[in-house]
Amino acid sequence: MEWEAVIGLEIHAQLATRSKIFSGASTDFGAEPNTQACAVDLGLPGVLPVLNKEAVRMAAKFGLAVGATVAKRSVFARKNYFYPDLPKGYQISQYELPIVAKGKIEIELESGEHKTVGITRAHLEEDAGKSLHEDFHGMTGIDLNRAGTPLLEIVSEPDLRSAAEAVTYLKKIHSLVRYLEICDGNMQEGSFRCDANVSVRRKGADKFGTRAEIKNVNSFRFVEKAINFEIERQIELIESGGQVVQETRLYDADKDETRSMRSKEEAMDYRYFPDPDLLPLIIDDAFVEGVRKTLPELPDAKRERFVKDYGLSNYDASVLTTSRELAQYYEAVVKAAKGEAKLSANWVMGELLGALNKENKDITQSPIGAQQLGGMICRITDNTISGKIAKQVFEAMWAGEGDADAVIEAKGLRQVTDTGAIAKIIDDVIAKNPEQVEQYRSGKDKLFGFFVGQVMKESKGKANPGQVNDLLKQKLDNK
Ligand code: ADP
Ligand code: MG
Repeated sequence: MEWEAVIGLEIHAQLATRSKIFSGASTDFGAEPNTQACAVDLGLPGVLPVLNKEAVRMAAKFGLAVGATVAKRSVFARKNYFYPDLPKGYQISQYELPIVAKGKIEIELESGEHKTVGITRAHLEEDAGKSLHEDFHGMTGIDLNRAGTPLLEIVSEPDLRSAAEAVTYLKKIHSLVRYLEICDGNMQEGSFRCDANVSVRRKGADKFGTRAEIKNVNSFRFVEKAINFEIERQIELIESGGQVVQETRLYDADKDETRSMRSKEEAMDYRYFPDPDLLPLIIDDAFVEGVRKTLPELPDAKRERFVKDYGLSNYDASVLTTSRELAQYYEAVVKAAKGEAKLSANWVMGELLGALNKENKDITQSPIGAQQLGGMICRITDNTISGKIAKQVFEAMWAGEGDADAVIEAKGLRQVTDTGAIAKIIDDVIAKNPEQVEQYRSGKDKLFGFFVGQVMKESKGKANPGQVNDLLKQKLDNK
């Protein structure tokens, strides 16, 4: 019997505002515990929340970027539950009337096909504090610095059909919120987290199965593993006569399994009601139009432009537009390389991204600037150095030894294009290898590569490969 997975994601993106959503306390990460929670965040009696306009702007920006409706009127509600890291006893969230509704985003599947994923809603809410279980023997510490940090919860339709699709969608949203500069996307610090809702059904069935919600998955790789584990677990359970129960599960990365955490609360358990301390949020057209003007070129549009303007493949263009910073870097390289778009793409995606990955760095930490890399590419196209020698120049630039020209001079890497000098090396090589010359001349064409190799070696890689080929052919063939 064939099974199909059904997945919907709830993504929590921490909005990159400087202060909290309902107070003026700082949102900086990493401060001493409990130094950034003010009376409002602590829910002390007599305080009133004041909505942060910047958070509203960021939510609206997201809404516009996914073609959603930005609600003229949305309402903050209290979601009541008791937990040590929630001092008020309720979380302020949006429930029936969220700020963003009915959006969509397109993802590209491994097969190359495009798929549209519906975004049910995105609503504003405050984050809770953090329970620290590890640092205190036999006790739990509470750090309320995070309490009141603005979150945008982005809820997808159950449109995803595999773990791989879910991760592709998650990466797409991750890239989008960073393009929009509304979230730093740092998954380790918890600025971008996701809960995965997973169910399975028999292929062709039109009703969804019962879902489990997996909490706390903080890397793309773990999201994929957790979903795959969960799909298998549910299929095995049903096939052996059991039933999936609706519950919240936790992913344990060490054991690579999901475990039951608690049975799922129903919405009524939270006793949602409109927060009497906050007026409904009313947004006018002028505000939305103002936000629209701040939208940058979005990833899809940028990718299409890269294909069109730079003649790149769709794959190359996707890689180079994964982040705004990388795209910017690439465009600066092309400019400095006088329009050599394809060669620039090869160097950025090959050598540069390779070296950065090895050291776990991102493009903003590249020791080689775009001007520098573009300058080096110019020296390849004007034949000062060969592509092979360029790798040495690249390494020297990476080590901080200066621009391409300085490195080429200091290390004497300039390509030999003097026909006389190359001819002399070729004559030497021919003289030193009479046997091979004999074999080549009696028809063993494959030996040509051997001669090229010898000449390049003699010249320390600096002879112009094109000239070496031409001259060698002449000398070997004309005897
Ligand atoms: P809640 O807030 O209780 O978690 P929602 O109805 O808002 O519930 O749904 C949360 C997420 O669960 C959404 O992303 C939705 O697409 C997904 N979802 C709903 N039903 C299913 C299902 N049967 N299988 C998988 N995902 C589902
Ligand atoms: Mg949920």
